[in-house]
This record gives sequence, structure tokens and C-alpha cells, in this order.
Amino acid sequence: MDEKPESKVFIKRGEVVGKQVVEKRGYVIGTVKDLSFTITSEGVELAISVDSAGRELNIPWAEIQAIGDVVLLKSQYEKPTPAPTLVAPPAVPTPTPIGVGLEKICPYCEFKNPSDAKFCVRCGRRLPG
Ligand SMILES: [Zn+2]
Repeated sequence: MDEKPESKVFIKRGEVVGKQVVEKRGYVIGTVKDLSFTITSEGVELAISVDSAGRELNIPWAEIQAIGDVVLLKSQYEKPTPAPTLVAPPAVPTPTPIGVGLEKICPYCEFKNPSDAKFCVRCGRRLPG
């Protein structure tokens, strides 16, 4: 690690881990879980590993504006959205086809009831079939 940042601020891991990470607009996007390194052709790049609503984000050290009570970032980040729970679309009730021949005509009052009716809607008597 012979990387020499221009501003020589020495940060201890323990000073960063557990802090909230706040992006430019002031949204808390997560909590620092750990520090991580990326080895690139340019050298070693330091990043913070952020726990963002259960997802891990690696934010390059260069994105950090300041470290105080929280870790402030220079850029905007999306607020974490909890992993979408797969919600089955609401069951669409199959409309009862109402067509000629499908309805049950009450033998007592001749009211046209839906085909699945057991009792006449109008007179309440049991329908045949
Ligand atoms: Zn009836």
C-alpha cells in the first residue's frame, strides 16, 4: 500500500466501520461494513464496503467527501430499496360469462340468475341443476 493520497488523513478501519453512509443529497444509503481494496493496473484502490439494505455496495474511496459522524459521499446515490418481494399479482377474478344459455332462469319467477347461482337472486328459491 504505497498509495499516497494528497491529503494525508489517516483513517483507522474502526473509525469508519459502522458509520452511516450519507450521499450528497443527505440520504442515508447504508452502513459501512468494512473496507475493501481493488487492485487495478494503477495500483490499489480503496473502497468502502457498504451494507445498503442487505445489498453490498462498494464505494470507491475517491467518492468520499468527508468522514465525520457519518461518511459523506460526493455523489448522489440511489436510496436503497429493499429487495422487491415477489408479490403475486392480485388474482383477477374470472368474470362469469353471462351469455344467453349460460344463465339460470328461475323456474318460479323467471329471473335470470348467473349460471353458478344455486339460489335465485330474486326469490331465493333453489335453482335446478
Ligand atoms: Zn326466482
